[in-house]
Amino acid sequence: MPPALPIEGGCRCGQVRFRIDAQPMMTMACHRRGCQQMSGSAFSLNVAVPSTTLTITQGDTVIGGLRGEQIRHHHCGDCKSWLFTRIEPDPGFANVRVGALDDPAPFASFIETWTDEALAWATTPARHRYPQSPPPEAFGPLLAEFAARQSG
Ligand SMILES: [Zn+2]
Repeated sequence: MPPALPIEGGCRCGQVRFRIDAQPMMTMACHRRGCQQMSGSAFSLNVAVPSTTLTITQGDTVIGGLRGEQIRHHHCGDCKSWLFTRIEPDPGFANVRVGALDDPAPFASFIETWTDEALAWATTPARHRYPQSPPPEAFGPLLAEFAARQSG
C-alpha cells in the first residue's frame, strides 16, 4: 500500500515541520561509517523523494555534518535533529530520514548500501544489498521494482 499523501514529518522539538507531496522513490539503509556517526546509530534510514516535492512548512533548517560542497545535511537549528539531505547540483531526489517522519512504520528499507562498513549484527529486511553504493545501472531497475511493490 502506498503511503497517504502528504507524508509529513518534523524534528524532535517540533520547531521544524516538513511535507512530501509525492510517493517515495526508494527506501535505503546506509551502513557507511559517516551515516553511523551522523545518526548515532548502526546505520541511517533514508527515503528518497522527488526533491521538488519536499518542502519545509514550519521553521527553518541549518546545515550540519561536514558541510561539503555537494552534500547539504539539514538539521533543526534548535534541537539539531538530522532531518534530510539535499545534493547539489540537484539530482532530482532528496533523502529524508525515516525516523523524522510522523509515521515511519511503512518505510522499511528496500536496499542496503555500504555493507562493507556495516556492523556485523546490524541487519534490515532490505531486498537488495550493496557493498558500497549501487552501480549506476542498478538504479533504473531498483526504482521500477520499488514502485511496483508500492502500488502492488
Ligand atoms: Zn527541533
